[in-house]
Amino acid sequence: MDKRILVTGAGGFIGGALVRSLRERHGAAALRAVDFKPLDEWHQRFSDVETLRLDLSELEACRKATRGIDEVYNLAADMGGMGFIETHKAECMLSVLISTHMLVAARDAGCKRFFYSSSACVYAADKQTDAAVVALKESDAYPAEPEDGYGWEKLFTERMCRHFTEDFGIETRVARYHNVYGPFGTYDGGREKAPAAICRKVISAKLSGKHEIEIWGDGEQTRSFTYIDDCIQGTQRLMASDVREPLNIGSDQLVTINELVGMVEAIAGIKLRRSYKLDAPKGVRGRNSDNALIRKRLGWAPSIRLEQGMAETYRWIFDQMTLAASERRVKIA
Ligand code: NAD
Repeated sequence: MDKRILVTGAGGFIGGALVRSLRERHGAAALRAVDFKPLDEWHQRFSDVETLRLDLSELEACRKATRGIDEVYNLAADMGGMGFIETHKAECMLSVLISTHMLVAARDAGCKRFFYSSSACVYAADKQTDAAVVALKESDAYPAEPEDGYGWEKLFTERMCRHFTEDFGIETRVARYHNVYGPFGTYDGGREKAPAAICRKVISAKLSGKHEIEIWGDGEQTRSFTYIDDCIQGTQRLMASDVREPLNIGSDQLVTINELVGMVEAIAGIKLRRSYKLDAPKGVRGRNSDNALIRKRLGWAPSIRLEQGMAETYRWIFDQMTLAASERRVKIA
C-alpha cells in the first residue's frame, strides 16, 4: 500500500478541505482524519475515510492517531478570528500540548514527514503598525514579538519542528497561513474571521431589510486574505518540497476592511449604512504576505483574486443561512 496520511483538525475548516483534496489525489484508504469535536459538527466529512474522535492534547491519543502513519498534517489547534484569540490567550497557548504530543508521537511512530500550520500571527507587532504596510517576509518573525498568546504558541512550535528535524531526523514543514477564507469556513459563533463575518452581516442585512453594518475598528486596517483552494494547494506543495524553513502561504492582494465590505456589498447588490465599533478587537494595523521566498522555493504562490473567492464564499454562506438547519454545513460525501 502507498503511504498513509493523517490529518488532525480534520473536522475544522482547513482540515476538512485538505482531506477532500488528499482523498482525490491518494484515495480514501490512504487517509485518517482526526478531530475531537462531535462528528455532526465537522465542516466536511467523508464516509469512506477512517475517522477518529480523539483529544490530541493527550499523548496517548496522539500515539493512536499516528500509528502506521507516514505523513502527518497537524492542523488541530484551539483558534478563531481576532475576537477569539484576543480574549482566549491561555486557551490558544494550550494548543502547545497538541503540537508537542503530536511531534513526540510522530517521531516515535516513525512518521517521515510532519506538516505544521503556523500563522502570520508570529510576525513582530512593530512591523505591522501602519496600514500602508510593507509585506512581511519570513525573516520578519525575529526579533520575536508575535501576537500575544496564539502567536507565541505558533512561534514556539515552529522552533520545535526545526529542532525535531535537527535532533531526531523527522522532516518537518511549516506554513505561515495568512487569513484563510472560503466555503465551509466558520461564519458565526464567535470564531469566524473578517471575510465570513462580513458576508454574514451583509446577508443578514439583505434578508432582514435592515440595511446597516457594524465594522470592527475604523475599517482602514489592511489585510490580505487567502482563498482556501490556494491554501490547500500551497500546503501540499510545501509538504512535497525540500523546504525546511517556514514559508508564508498567503495572498499578497492587500485591501482595507472598508474595501472588503464594499466588495461584498457589490456581490450582494446592496449598499449599507456603516457604523464603526472602535473598541472591538481589530488586531494589527496592517498585514500583507511577501511571497518572494515561496515563489523562489516552490515556483508557485497564491493567485486566486479576492473578488472571485469572496463571490464563492458569499454564495456558500448565503445558502447556509437560508437552508433548513438539517441541510447546513456538514456534507458527507
Ligand atoms: P478550525 O478551528 O476550523 O480547525 C481546527 C480544528 O482543530 C477544530 O476542528 C478543532 O475541533 C480541532 N481541535 C482543537 N483542539 C483539538 C484537540 N485537543 N484534539 C483534536 N482536535 C482538536 O481552524 P482552521 O481555520 O481550519 O485552522 C487550521 C489550522 O491552521 C490551525 O492550526 C490554525 O491555527 C492554523 N491557521 C489558520 C488560519 C486561518 O485563517 N484559518 C490562519 C493561520 C493559521
